[in-house]
Amino acid sequence: MSNYKAPLADMRFVMFDVLKLDAQYARIEGGENATRDTVDAILDEAARFTEQVLAPLNAIGDEQGCVLDKATATVTTPPGFKEAYAKYIEGGWSGLTAPEKYGGQHLPESIGAPIKEMLDSANLSWGNFPLLSHGASEALRLHGEEWQREVFLKHIVDGTWTGTMCLTEPHCGSDLGLLKSRVEANPDGSYRVSGTKIFITAGEHDLTENIVHLVLARLPDAPPGVKGISLFIVPKYKVDKSGKVGERNAVTCGAIEHKMGIKASVTCVMNFDGAEGFLIGQPNKGLMAMFTMMNTARLAVGIQGLGLTERAYQGALAYARDRLQGRSLSGAKFPDKPADPLIVHPDIRRMLLTQKALAEGGRVLGYYAASLVDLVERAPDPAERKRADDLLSFIIPITKALLTENANECTYHAVQIFGGHGYIHESGMEQFARDARITTIYEGTTGIQALDLLGRKTLQTQGLGLKLFLEEISAFCHAQAKEPALAEFIAPLAIAAKDWADLTQEIGKRVLGNPDEVGVAAVDYLFYSGYVALAYFWARSVAAADASAQSVEFKQAKRGTARFYFARILPRTLTHAAALRANADTLMMMPAEQFG
Ligand SMILES: Cc1cc2nc3c(=O)[nH]c(=O)nc-3n(C[C@H](O)[C@H](O)[C@H](O)COP(=O)(O)OP(=O)(O)OC[C@H]3O[C@@H](n4cnc5c(N)ncnc54)[C@H](O)[C@@H]3O)c2cc1C
Repeated sequence: MSNYKAPLADMRFVMFDVLKLDAQYARIEGGENATRDTVDAILDEAARFTEQVLAPLNAIGDEQGCVLDKATATVTTPPGFKEAYAKYIEGGWSGLTAPEKYGGQHLPESIGAPIKEMLDSANLSWGNFPLLSHGASEALRLHGEEWQREVFLKHIVDGTWTGTMCLTEPHCGSDLGLLKSRVEANPDGSYRVSGTKIFITAGEHDLTENIVHLVLARLPDAPPGVKGISLFIVPKYKVDKSGKVGERNAVTCGAIEHKMGIKASVTCVMNFDGAEGFLIGQPNKGLMAMFTMMNTARLAVGIQGLGLTERAYQGALAYARDRLQGRSLSGAKFPDKPADPLIVHPDIRRMLLTQKALAEGGRVLGYYAASLVDLVERAPDPAERKRADDLLSFIIPITKALLTENANECTYHAVQIFGGHGYIHESGMEQFARDARITTIYEGTTGIQALDLLGRKTLQTQGLGLKLFLEEISAFCHAQAKEPALAEFIAPLAIAAKDWADLTQEIGKRVLGNPDEVGVAAVDYLFYSGYVALAYFWARSVAAADASAQSVEFKQAKRGTARFYFARILPRTLTHAAALRANADTLMMMPAEQFG
C-alpha cells in the first residue's frame, strides 16, 4: 500500500506562480487574512492531517465499510473515522471558508481547493462527510432565513452537525422534474415532509450528534415538473427556532447501499414519514436554490477526481521506480541490478506521463475554477463579479467532467503499471479505480455535464462564457508571442482555440435544423473543450515556471510534461472534432428495435 505525500510544492506553484492568487487575495473580501505565511501554514497543517490521520484509514475503510444496525437504524462508520472527524473539528477545518458571523474564518474558497484535494487523495470516502456539509451550508447561507442560519448553519460551520443533499428518488435521478416527495403545512409554519430518498450520502452516521437534511419536495398546490419543487430543512433531531434540540424526527435510514467503491462513504435510503421540516427560500423555487450551490458542489467532485488522479500517480510512480522487470530497449540502464526498473520502459512512461500531465494540468484547472468562485462573491467591482460568474458557469461542467474522467483514466493506468499486483487488493490501486468510478456519475453524470456545457452554458448564452475564456487565451498568446521559448506551445494553442470557436458555430447552425444535434455533439464537445483548456493551463504553467524562482529541475520537468501533453494528449481533440462533425444520423438513424 502506497503512502500519500501531499504535493505541496506543486500546489504552491499553481496557487502563487501560475494563478497569482496572492495578488487576488490582496483585493478580495476575506483575502486580508490570507497572507502568504498564513496560507503556507494552513497547507502544511492540512498535509500533516491528511498524510498522518486520514490516509492510514483509507484501506480499512474500504475493507470494513459502514454498518447499519437495522433495529436502531443507526450507522457505524469504520474504525478511526470518528476520531479523525473529532480532530478535523478541533483543527477548525469545517469553518475555513464560512462567514465569520457564523463562526467561520471566511478564508477564500481557493484555499479550500488544495485542502479538499488533500482530503480526497488521502481518503475519498472520509472526505464525503464534510463535502455534503459544505453544500448544505452554502444553501443555508444563500437562501436561509436568519434564524435558520443561527440555528443550523452555526452547527454545520463548527462541525458538530453535518449536512446532506436529498434530491434523488427511486424513479428520479437526472430528471428531478419527476420528484414525488411531498409536504403538508403545520399551523405553526413548519411542514411535514414525506417520501423516500435514495443514494443519500452521509444520510446517517455516528460522527456527529445531529444531521441536517436538505430535502427537495413538493408543496400541496405545486405545479408539476421542475417548477413545483421546494427546498426544506429536515433535522435528524428536531430543533426549535431558539436552537433547542428536541426529540428524534420522523426521518430514518431504511437501508445502506453495497457499492463498487467509496465503501466507507455511507449511501442511504432515507424514509421521511411526516418529518418536521422548514421551508428554505421561496416556495417552488427549490431547484433554483439547489442550482446556486451546484457550482461549488460540482467543483468539489471535480477536485475529488483530481485528488484520486494525484494519488494514483504517486502510487504508480513509486512502484515504477522500484519494481525491476526486463531491460531497457536501448541497453541496460542499471547493469549492476538483475533487471531495470519499470520506469525505463516507454509504455510505462506513457502512462506515468499521462497521469502527471493530467494531475498537474488538472490542478491548475481546478484551482482556477475555485479562484473564480472567490471573485463571484468577493471581488470589489460588480463588473468583475459578473464576468467571473459567466466564466465560472461555463468552466464548471468542464472541470467536473474532465477531472473525474481523468481520475478514471489515471487510476486505470495505476492498476496497469502495477501489473497483476495492481489487480490485487493489497496494492491499493484497485481501490482507487473503484473509488474513482462514482465521480463521473454523482453530482450530474458526464453526459449531463456535457449537455449543460453545450446547451445551457454555450448555445443558450450565445457563447458568452466561451467568448470570455477564449479572450483570456488570446490575451495570453499575444502577451507571450515574442517569447521564442514558448512558441512550441503558443502556436498549437492558438490553432486549437480558433477551432474551438469555429466548431461551436458549426454545431450552433446544425442545432437549428435538428435539436438532437446538441445531445449528439455534447460529450465530444466537452472533451474537446477540456483538452484545449488544459493546453492553455499547461502553456501558462511553463511560462510561470520559466519566470519563477523554481529550481532548474522543476522548470525542466514542467516543460517536459507540457511537451508530452501537447504531443500526445492534445491530439485527442482531433478525434473529438471528427466525431463532432459526423452526421447525427450515425447515432440516431437506427430504430431502437434494430439494436438487437
Ligand atoms: C454513491 C452515490 C452517492 C450519491 N449521493 C447522492 C446524494 O447525496 N444526494 C442525492 O440526491 N443523490 C445522490 N446520488 C445520486 C446521483 O446523483 C444519481 O445517481 C445521478 O444523478 C444519476 O441519476 P440516476 O442514477 O437515476 O441515473 P439516470 O438519471 O437514470 O441516468 C442513467 C444514464 O442515462 C443518462 N441520462 C439520463 N438522462 C439523460 C438525458 N436527458 N440525456 C442524456 N443522457 C441522459 C445519464 O447520464 C446516465 O448515464 C448518489 C449516487 C450514488 C451512486
